[in-house]
Amino acid sequence: MAYDNAEQLEEFRLAARKWLEENCPPSMRTPMLDDEIVWGGRNATFKNPDSKVWLDRMGEKGWTAPEWPKEYGGGGLSRGEARVLEQEMRRIKARPPLFSFGLWMFGPALLEFGNYEQKLRFIPDIVKGKIRWCQGYSEPGAGSDLADLQTRCEDKGDHYLINGQKVWTSYADKADWIFCLVRTDTSVKHEGISFILFDMKSPGVEARPIQLISGESPFCETFFTDVKVPKDQLVGRLNGGWDIAKRLLQFERSSISAGGFGGTGGSGILGPEDYAKQHVGTDEAGRIADGDMRGRITDHKMYVKAFSLTVQRQAEQAKAGQAVGHTASILKYAAAKMNQDRHELLIESLGTEGLGWEGEGFDRGAKKATRQWLRSKGNSIEGGTSEINLNVVAKRVLGLKEHQ
Ligand SMILES: Cc1cc2nc3c(=O)[nH]c(=O)nc-3n(C[C@H](O)[C@H](O)[C@H](O)COP(=O)(O)OP(=O)(O)OC[C@H]3O[C@@H](n4cnc5c(N)ncnc54)[C@H](O)[C@@H]3O)c2cc1C
Repeated sequence: MAYDNAEQLEEFRLAARKWLEENCPPSMRTPMLDDEIVWGGRNATFKNPDSKVWLDRMGEKGWTAPEWPKEYGGGGLSRGEARVLEQEMRRIKARPPLFSFGLWMFGPALLEFGNYEQKLRFIPDIVKGKIRWCQGYSEPGAGSDLADLQTRCEDKGDHYLINGQKVWTSYADKADWIFCLVRTDTSVKHEGISFILFDMKSPGVEARPIQLISGESPFCETFFTDVKVPKDQLVGRLNGGWDIAKRLLQFERSSISAGGFGGTGGSGILGPEDYAKQHVGTDEAGRIADGDMRGRITDHKMYVKAFSLTVQRQAEQAKAGQAVGHTASILKYAAAKMNQDRHELLIESLGTEGLGWEGEGFDRGAKKATRQWLRSKGNSIEGGTSEINLNVVAKRVLGLKEHQ
């Protein structure tokens, strides 16, 4: 459905505003604490019961995926309407009802490459947050050179049989299903890869959490031993998975950049400027006393502003019909730098408080900042390393030639 004229958009705005006022519980209009993030799935937990009410209502309306077709449970909104919905949600400070790899990367790829039955089967559950997905791309010997992956998928007549290992599979131990890259032809590289889906409860699937320096374990090593997969769970054509894989990476990089690795904003962490004023002190004009730090924090704020305007411009270009493309790599690179700079500044401005790890001696925000600073080290690796994204920008955006 295409609503393009201003009057109809205004009508939509009033209807959306009314619906949001009536359906968004008051506690869903407050900053979200990390432990209240909703990932959905078969074993979904809702620390705040209102978050389930909010997810169910938004999912039912298709507004967790406002622009996806109504036929598959999406909101069926035009770009303009989706934009209005976003503004209206921001107006009442509504929390995102769902965090989901399905919404951010798998769903958009399936809408493009899946067949009708696959879309009918999987998309509605993504919209409603009923199935949680994880991403089985990286392997111990295939990260940046992803196409070197070795996880084997053999055609056994009435099913496929999968053997191999993935690594860094975020939330594999909590996910219900995996979208996975497998090797279906060993004689060629890129043309021997297929894109397949399976249930993480299938016999032969094992996910082992990896402990990180931040003290958290959201990642797993994932092992597949003789995993039987029904043939109708192959997406696209056999050996045609590389195109889907690349497209999904573009969606991944775009969604990472759109969020700017910003987290939920409700973790109790103040900004670098606030911490610097608290711990470094202020001059008589109320500014951060240390001129060098003041300058660097100002630079960072300008970067954040420029980044957000660029993301906005890219969204406008997409609205005008230009699909998500290699500019996703520019934004992913910039978002990683921005978030890492922010955490460096945070730690510096916290002074000795920035050593906080656990116990009563440090405030909640300081302890969180220390762990997030360590976590931010991964920003320039996840979703494709900065070096690889710079290579993509050099070749695909600037048109430079390979080094000879
Ligand atoms: C927080 C986090 C979450 C992740 N989540 C997932 C997930 O859910 N699912 C999943 O499948 N994977 C996930 N990954 C894996 C991630 O995609 C890979 O780690 C990443 O692609 C890099 O691969 P690698 O670790 O094998 O590094 P390598 O490829 O070994 O790279 C090592 C270094 O060499 C550099 N390098 C390599 N090749 C080149 C080149 N051609 N030119 C210049 N420099 C080069 C790299 O940039 C890097 O600095 C996650 C990683 C992190 C850190």
